[in-house]
Amino acid sequence: MGSEEFQTARGTRDVLSPETWQFEAMRRLALRWAVRYGYELIETPIFEKSPVFLRVGASTDIVQHERYQFVDAGGDDLTLRPEGTAAVARAYVQHGLASAVQPVKLCYYGPMFRRERPQAGRFRQHTQFGVELFGSRSPLADAEVMLLGCRIVDAAGLRNPEIRVNSLGCDRCRPQYRRALVDFFTARREELCQDCQTRLEQNPLRLLDCKVDVAVRQEAPDLENYWCDDCRAHITTVIEIVAASGQIIRRDRHLVRGLDYYTRTVFEVGHPGLGDQVALFGGGRYDGLTANLGGESVPSVGFGMGIERLLSALPTALPTLVPDRAYVAHLPGFERQAYLWALKLRDEGIAVDADMLERSLKAQLKEAGRRARLALIVGGTEWSQGNVAVRDLTQGSQDVVALEEVVEYMKTRLQEGEL
Ligand SMILES: [Zn+2]
Ligand SMILES: [Zn+2]
Repeated sequence: MGSEEFQTARGTRDVLSPETWQFEAMRRLALRWAVRYGYELIETPIFEKSPVFLRVGASTDIVQHERYQFVDAGGDDLTLRPEGTAAVARAYVQHGLASAVQPVKLCYYGPMFRRERPQAGRFRQHTQFGVELFGSRSPLADAEVMLLGCRIVDAAGLRNPEIRVNSLGCDRCRPQYRRALVDFFTARREELCQDCQTRLEQNPLRLLDCKVDVAVRQEAPDLENYWCDDCRAHITTVIEIVAASGQIIRRDRHLVRGLDYYTRTVFEVGHPGLGDQVALFGGGRYDGLTANLGGESVPSVGFGMGIERLLSALPTALPTLVPDRAYVAHLPGFERQAYLWALKLRDEGIAVDADMLERSLKAQLKEAGRRARLALIVGGTEWSQGNVAVRDLTQGSQDVVALEEVVEYMKTRLQEGEL
């Protein structure tokens, strides 16, 4: 423990082994599924010019309160990315991907930054995996991103996740609904919480997912009654396709999501074991975002998945990527030979450690017992006869193996890892 000023900043933390390997296993699992679904990996910078994220929507919490925005020494107004979509959409426009073969399917994985109020399980730096599918208006695109996310959650060990979905309508039908909503809530203004009273004019849809005004919102007009024919057909098809694949999906008329850029489909995915409030990932369709970022208007749909939350919700840890390890111990005078053998075994693909502290054989084997499965003992009678003693540290048994066979022997005894 160092002094207070040299601890991690508020809302951030170090991740140590073995948890780091859980993160890495999760990253690989997500990318494996994304590749199966035809996605390419994109990496955008950790910070962008601030307008990129301001275009996400002026009335969202992220933009209003939670941005890490700063002016650097050169006078540039920059923001640490709070989410992935705006940056990926910016890249799509900047690199002219609208003229590539559509759809363009991109996925990203990396840290995001939001100055959230400190609370258990919330971090100001968190890891997000997400996908964006550009250039398709089809309900198949909506269905596909939902299903991909569900496969990842399922493969990580949370079997049978559940999708809640809603349609926020389009430019043609949403304005009427918005007006009906403002009228309804204005008449009930006295009953609303402070937050809702202030966002009533600015963002009335957000009142539908207020956790305080649950009773009022139950009586609010239902979007479904305002959908135009196209919007109705779209959401109906999305639900039908997803359900036909065997995935659980149901409409939630109070689901609106926090970001302003969504059109039509919004969704969140949870798990019955975690309660209604926990969303493992969520997203939707945002047909206007690329136009806001200076490109042409391209239909797009995607999701973002918080990796910390997903990992903490898993019933069991992901299989470790780390292989079984071996240890080359030595009798007095054989330190250098032991080390050379460790190097040789590493070149053969085996994870091996050797003593660097001039410990006794007994102390080396004790150390080996903590981190390895097999220990080679270099030196002694066996060694002088061209053999080596190999001890199984979990079972306590010992074999004598000819030196020319030791690599094969160890490969069959040690569990391989993905790393
Ligand atoms: Zn519509
Ligand atoms: Zn409220």
